[in-house]
Amino acid sequence: MSSSVAIKPISNGTVPKDVLDEILRTGKLSAAFEKELFTLASEAKNRSYAPYSKFRVGAAVIATSGNIYLGGNVESASYGATRCAEQTAFQKAVSEGDRRFLAVGVATDTDAFISPCGICRQFMVEFGKGVIVYNFKPDGTFKRYLLSELLPDSFGPEDLDRPRGQ
Ligand SMILES: [Zn+2]
Repeated sequence: MSSSVAIKPISNGTVPKDVLDEILRTGKLSAAFEKELFTLASEAKNRSYAPYSKFRVGAAVIATSGNIYLGGNVESASYGATRCAEQTAFQKAVSEGDRRFLAVGVATDTDAFISPCGICRQFMVEFGKGVIVYNFKPDGTFKRYLLSELLPDSFGPEDLDRPRGQ
């Protein structure tokens, strides 16, 4: 079941400063950068490890710093240890020091707009409800949401600060 294809490592990239400034100013990605995000998410998908489900997923996360992190789903023979692509990408980002994010693109091989699972929505909302989520089809068409639309009335770190009753 397992694949041992050697994949040349790539370093995570950075969004060009002028592009980042425009995103920060407008709160939106340009059409050109949306295409770039699709390319990045597709590249992440190619690096997934999904020998059991054969359901490859890639995620590309853009941090407010401009850093880009790619993540693929990583499955395990102990199925419960499997991690989704979005979690891989966010864990890479957070463990490298980024905690605020602008957008995440998700790509699969399926001719449908596959949306992050419930666990990933909760995982991502920890780092902000305003993240723009792109669900890409293999042809590059997409649906776009705010994370707060995918997980309304969410529970987050702010709730832990609330005073407790008796
Ligand atoms: Zn997930």
